[in-house]
Amino acid sequence: MSAVYRVDLDAFARNLRRVREAVAPAAHMLVVKDDAYAHGLEPIVTRAVAEGIRWIGAFDVVTGAAVRRIAGPDVRIFVWLIGGSDDLAAGIAADLDLGIGDEALLDDLSRLEAHRPARVHLKIDTGLHRNGIRPERWEAALAQTSELVTAGRVAFEGIWSHISEASDADDDDARAVFLAARETARAAGLDPRFSHLAASAAGFARDEFREDIVRVGAFSYGIRPAGGPGERELGIEPIATLSATVTAVDAAGVHLDLGSLHGLPSALGGRFDVVTPGGPRRVEAIAPTETVLAPWAGAQPGDEIALFGPAALHTATDLAELIDTIGEEIALRVSPTVPRDYTSTDA
Ligand SMILES: *Cc1c(COP(=O)(O)O)cnc(C)c1O
Repeated sequence: MSAVYRVDLDAFARNLRRVREAVAPAAHMLVVKDDAYAHGLEPIVTRAVAEGIRWIGAFDVVTGAAVRRIAGPDVRIFVWLIGGSDDLAAGIAADLDLGIGDEALLDDLSRLEAHRPARVHLKIDTGLHRNGIRPERWEAALAQTSELVTAGRVAFEGIWSHISEASDADDDDARAVFLAARETARAAGLDPRFSHLAASAAGFARDEFREDIVRVGAFSYGIRPAGGPGERELGIEPIATLSATVTAVDAAGVHLDLGSLHGLPSALGGRFDVVTPGGPRRVEAIAPTETVLAPWAGAQPGDEIALFGPAALHTATDLAELIDTIGEEIALRVSPTVPRDYTSTDA
């Protein structure tokens, strides 16, 4: 018995169906960065492919290549953290779709010896300034891309951007920049097969943001936005329960074998309740390697206690809201040292 993160792959599959329905007719690109939001890359990708997912957003090239090994040849895999020539070569070798937001990468592509054209999605910076080609450099980047297409080095596949989803007004401004950039590209003879700019929130709430593909991470894993609509309203459900085991019972309380080093923020100590065999009890303190609960009569070493998730009183986002952060912050912290346990009855 020990701490465990229990992932319900059937609940995950239900979320995938819900996301597909919400963003249709756009395609759902399942985002799997950070080890599939800490749920574990391999089981998540395997189930997603079985459920019909045909686009996966993998973030970096190493993850993209890992997804290719898991998912096989028929899935499109998009990556957008690309360091330079070596990453480009590895990405082309793994048959990845490359999100290019930096003109230096176009220079690298012009020098690269590859066996096939690189599948490129050009990124316009629509205001987040993380990466992306600035509007004033867009025409130059298009000209360079056209040359690479003519030279057989690039297959021009898409235009994309990333938006804040923090306010509708900011997103509207970003979308205007995006649409203008697409018009300029078309005028330059580069007509994208795929346009994509929305993630979970805008993909669900705003149909004009869906375009051809919506890149959905959080909602696929049932992580609702902090301060936003609830799971029921969105039609999604959390898929993973973090549980710990009672190791000792003493005057201080009931001790569990999981602490802040395993991912539970110590700032949550004293802030929430968990279900116990004796009824709800307060989480009194979260130390580096243990958590202490208020006692109940008959507490036994070996009892399993759910801290957050569908089997607990609170979700990751509920806990996040107590300390002014977002659900991803709680979910992504679950340490890789906590074993994952997968359940599935449907497939
Ligand atoms: C993380 C990420 C997403 C997914 O965002 P969610 O809000 O988790 O759906 C989409 N696109 C990019 C570029 C990202 O980095």
